[in-house]
Amino acid sequence: MTLDRHADLVLTGGRIATIDAARSFASALAVRDGRLVAVGPDALVGAHIGPSTRVIALRGRTVTPGFQDAHVHPVHGGLARLRCELHDTRGREAYLTVIAEYARTHPDETWIRGGGWYMDDFPGGTPRREDLDAIVPDRPVFLTNRDGHGAWANSKALEVAGVTRETTDPADGRIERDADGSPTGTLHEGAMDLVERFQPDDTPADLEAALRLGQAYLHSLGITAWQDAIVRSETEERAYVALAASGELTARVIGAMWWERSRGAEQIDEFVARRAATSIGRYQATSVKLMMDGVLENYTGAMLDPYLDADGRATDNRGLLQIDPEGLSTWVPRLDALGFQPHFHAIGDGAVRASLDAVAAARAANGPSDTRPHIAHIQVIHPEDIARFHELDVAANAQPYWACHEGQMDNLTIPFLGDRWRWQYPFRSLRAAGAVLAMGSDWSVSTPDPLLEMELAVERIADESRGEKPAFLPDERIDLIDALAAFTAGSAYVNHLDEMTGTLEVGKFADLAILDRDLFDRGAGAIGEARVVGTFVEGASVYEDAALDG
Ligand SMILES: [Zn+2]
Repeated sequence: MTLDRHADLVLTGGRIATIDAARSFASALAVRDGRLVAVGPDALVGAHIGPSTRVIALRGRTVTPGFQDAHVHPVHGGLARLRCELHDTRGREAYLTVIAEYARTHPDETWIRGGGWYMDDFPGGTPRREDLDAIVPDRPVFLTNRDGHGAWANSKALEVAGVTRETTDPADGRIERDADGSPTGTLHEGAMDLVERFQPDDTPADLEAALRLGQAYLHSLGITAWQDAIVRSETEERAYVALAASGELTARVIGAMWWERSRGAEQIDEFVARRAATSIGRYQATSVKLMMDGVLENYTGAMLDPYLDADGRATDNRGLLQIDPEGLSTWVPRLDALGFQPHFHAIGDGAVRASLDAVAAARAANGPSDTRPHIAHIQVIHPEDIARFHELDVAANAQPYWACHEGQMDNLTIPFLGDRWRWQYPFRSLRAAGAVLAMGSDWSVSTPDPLLEMELAVERIADESRGEKPAFLPDERIDLIDALAAFTAGSAYVNHLDEMTGTLEVGKFADLAILDRDLFDRGAGAIGEARVVGTFVEGASVYEDAALDG
C-alpha cells in the first residue's frame, strides 16, 4: 500500500479505548493534519509511518479520547490557585497556618481572598470570624468553602461590608448568627454577596492568568474540552474571548452563561447578543446555566419533602428553589426555541423535578429539539423521576467524586434526609433507564482529575478511604468502560462536540489522552492511581510528561 502523505503522529502497541458504538479496542492509530486517518491493529497503521512521522511506542499503555469535563469552573479554580489556596489542606489548625502564611507573604493584597475549606472541618460546618481575627485583624479576609456555597469572613470584612446583627438575611441566602443575632463569620449562598461586592474587581490580567493556569492544569489531567458552568459577562467571558482571540485557548470550551436570578426574560436577548459576539474559535457560548437550588449540607437544596432535624423528626424546611418555576415554564421553552442549551444545577429532588418540568414545558411548546438540556449534580432524584431523563431527552451530568461515604455525607447529609439518602447519585439506574450519562468535576469544588472521578463512579469509595469504608450504595456502581464513555462520548454529546470528538474514529479530531499504564488491567492498581503522560488536541501536544517517550 502506498500513501501520498505519511502521518504526522502514530501511536502503536497500546490498548486504545476507541469508545465507538461497539466499545472496541485498537492497538494503534495514525494522525494527519489533526485528524485520525487510521485506527486499528499495528500492521495496518504502520503503513502510515514515514521519515518525519513522530512514533510513540505505547508498550501496552492505554489511550482514550480526550476527557471532557461537563461541569467545571476553570477560571475560578485558576484564581484560587493564584490566591490563598486551601483545597490541598485539611483541618482548622492547618487552614489557619496557610492563611497566616499567605497574609505574611502578601503584604500588598488589600483583601485576603481564596478558599477551599471543607465544612466537615468545623462544628456544624460553620467556621468563626474570631479565628481569622487572631491572625489577620487589620485586612478583610473572605474565603469561600470548597463547594462555593458558603464563605468564611473575618470581623474586618463584615465591618467593611456593614454586616451587623441588624442586617437582614437576603432572600437567597443566610447569615449564620449567634444567639444574640451577631454574625459568626459564616455566610451562606446569597449572603456571601453582602461582603463579596466590596472586594476589588479581578483585573482582566488576573482572569486571563487564572484561565491559563486552569487550562494547563486540566490539560495535564488529559482534559481536552469542557463546559464552563458559570460564565459571567464581566469576568469569565472576557478571559475566554481574550484567549480564544489570541490563539491561546487550546481546549474546546462551551460557555454556560449565568442566568441572573434577580432578573427575568429580559436577559434572554442579551444571551442572544453575547452568543453572537463572543463565540470565537474553540470558545462557543451556547449554553445557559440555571442554578435551581443550593446544597443539602446547609439545607438550601430544594427538597420535595422537608429535611429532618438532628433527632430524625420532620422540620418545615424544604430548602430553597432559587428560580421561580412559574417563570421557568416560559423562559426554558424560549431558550430552547432560540437554540440555547439549558444547563441546570439541581441537588435536591425538588430542584431535579422542577428542572425536568421546565424541559417538559419546552418539549410541549417546541417539540423535540437538539439543545440537549442537562442537569448537573443530581444528588437526590425521586425514583419516579429517573425515567423522565430518557423520556424528555435530558442528559444526566454526574459528579461521581461525591458519591461516597465521607464526613460531609455521613454527618451533614444522611441524617437530615432519612430514608431518602438511598436516592443519591443513582448513576446505574439512570443508565438502565436509557439516560445519556455525562460526567464532570465541578472543580474547584473537588478534584478535576477524571481518573479519580472514574474510580468513584466504579467503586463508590473515596480514594482517601480505599479498603477502609464500604461502597456508597453499591448497586449504583457502573463499569469502568461506561464511566470512561461518560467522561468522553457522553460529555462530548452534552457539549455538542460529538460529531468531531469524544471517540477515536477515523475522520474525527485527534483529541486524546495517553495514560501511564493499561487502565483495564485491574492488577495495575486503583483506577485513580493512573496518571496521564500525554494530552493532544488535533494531534498537537498540549501536555507531555517525560515518561511519554521513555
Ligand atoms: Zn458548579
